[in-house]
Amino acid sequence: MEKNVIETDVLIIGGGTSGCLAAVELKELYPNLSVTIMEKAHVDRSGCLAGGMNAINAYLNPGETPESFTKYVRFDSCGLVREDLVLSMSELFEYCVKKVEKWGLPILCDEKGNYVPRGRWNIKINGESLKPIIAKAAKNAGAKILNWVTATNFIMADGKVAGAMGFSIKNGNFFIVKAKATIIATGGAAGIYKPNNAHDAQHKTWYSPYNTGAGYAMGIRAGAEMTSFEMRYIGLRVKDTIAPTGTIALGVGAPQINSKGEKFMAAKYAHIGGDGAPTPYRSHGPLQEIKEGRGPVYLDTRHITAQQARDLKSAFLDMYPSMVLYWAANEIDPSKEPVEVQTTEPYVVGGHTQSGYWVDVNRKTSIEGLYAAGDVSGGAPYKFVSGCWAEGVIAARAAGEYVQKTGFAQIPENVLKDEQERVFSPLMNQTHKIDGINNYDMEVRIQKIMEEYAGGAATFYEVNDERLQVARRRLSTLPDQFKYLMAEDLHDLMKAHEVIDRVYVAQVLVEHMMYRKETRWPGYCTRTDYTELDDTNWLKFVNSRRDPETGNIEMFTRPYEQIVPGDRYKPR
Ligand SMILES: Cc1cc2nc3c(=O)[nH]c(=O)nc-3n(C[C@H](O)[C@H](O)[C@H](O)COP(=O)(O)OP(=O)(O)OC[C@H]3O[C@@H](n4cnc5c(N)ncnc54)[C@H](O)[C@@H]3O)c2cc1C
Repeated sequence: MEKNVIETDVLIIGGGTSGCLAAVELKELYPNLSVTIMEKAHVDRSGCLAGGMNAINAYLNPGETPESFTKYVRFDSCGLVREDLVLSMSELFEYCVKKVEKWGLPILCDEKGNYVPRGRWNIKINGESLKPIIAKAAKNAGAKILNWVTATNFIMADGKVAGAMGFSIKNGNFFIVKAKATIIATGGAAGIYKPNNAHDAQHKTWYSPYNTGAGYAMGIRAGAEMTSFEMRYIGLRVKDTIAPTGTIALGVGAPQINSKGEKFMAAKYAHIGGDGAPTPYRSHGPLQEIKEGRGPVYLDTRHITAQQARDLKSAFLDMYPSMVLYWAANEIDPSKEPVEVQTTEPYVVGGHTQSGYWVDVNRKTSIEGLYAAGDVSGGAPYKFVSGCWAEGVIAARAAGEYVQKTGFAQIPENVLKDEQERVFSPLMNQTHKIDGINNYDMEVRIQKIMEEYAGGAATFYEVNDERLQVARRRLSTLPDQFKYLMAEDLHDLMKAHEVIDRVYVAQVLVEHMMYRKETRWPGYCTRTDYTELDDTNWLKFVNSRRDPETGNIEMFTRPYEQIVPGDRYKPR
């Protein structure tokens, strides 16, 4: 196995939605800069967009403004968001969408040439090929792409990020990429909790199963400030296929009903918008119905026409073909029977919720030389595809400016050597036939702890201090076991590092859930010991920083700043 040493002006880790846009923006603004993307999979079909999309979920339709969008996002996030971040990303929606349309994304238009809205903030696209389209744009712009190279840690020099290290999952080469600036864009974290599906289907998760929280973990290990992990994302999805429900709920106007046919959202949550209540409530409402014996819960599609049913299927073919196959295989006609829904396992995802790096308005993290964009970046929920593009653009502009006045850092040799040893130790353990554990067993350990004590589906996502203390204690025993992890091959090695990263993320997540002593986001993080939303004490961000020397996680808060005037609990 060789060592590949590369020098680049800007390193982008993660060639997904935000990473590709960041690369294009950098090369357009600074054609002479060298830009390298380090991507664990292959950029052509990687990350959340790998299977395609059928809508851009964050867009300013006619009459809407960055302020009205921010107001909505604040309402949807139960009154607490980084308004500066939401404003800055929404100002770039149009710029990004027009750009990607120019590269070849088909966006549905009406006879006057206006984009066809799907709800207040969405537009319809034929996005099956969205990922190859943006990947091609990044390649055409001149970015160097390292496919199948998984990042494992930042290179730290003098307290700054000076690039990253990783390994090729194809040939096992160790990669040292030295950079003047680094953009982390690795998406969120799946697989922290026991998945709803078991055995061979265990990786059938809603969130991309390959986004395993590497970017969070690398930041946590380096001592970066993180925010709002306790705002987990628990989505309402079509049962078994995990297809997104927005396509149905917004696409054909389908309300939630319980097993008695009652429209419970309209009846019980009318004061916060009924079926248009903030997203956490749209998961919380059905959970309560199931808990109280009125499950299963459905989206009522029985009013739709045969044509609407066909349109629905064609929308899913752009993003979730398995939904259409499932209906066909089970002879289900959504115009004749309602569609059963279920909540997913919890994820840490800064693009749907706001868990991630604490950044300034330029998406600069708390560590010099490091910028964060997309689902890995915190404080700005409701990003979706276009917000991730916008954050890629913002981070690229700031990183591009930063490298104009900075050089390559002097990197201590031991930083590289230690990481190389750490990275390959599971392979060495296998070679030396130590009595170790495989990554699957470790994954089961962490998922069982999180499921049972840190608010998994089995406990209706509820947490309290006592349970979280158990989770904290049990998780604290896992890092000592990393040295016994074994990997038979490079794929196994990748999985071993995925599970290590998940442990770091889980530990920080538990601290965050324990620290916020209120229930701000019912459904996402319902505290049975602090059941109410408490603006007097908790209208602020819960942040953390792990000390790289001691491993202690320090918890603290940052104030909320209201920029857009108006009632924080109203969508308009
Ligand atoms: C199933 C699904 C459906 C969705 N539907 C819609 C929709 O219809 N409309 C909408 O607007 N939004 C939708 N979203 C949300 C949107 O797709 C995401 O918010 C967005 O794509 C995230 O972009 P990102 O750049 O942060 O992450 P990604 O696009 O996922 O990119 C992350 C990249 O990092 C790579 N990576 C991960 N770990 C490493 C590592 N260690 N080293 C190197 N590379 C690494 C991954 O392989 C990936 O390429 C959906 C999301 C999902 C999961």
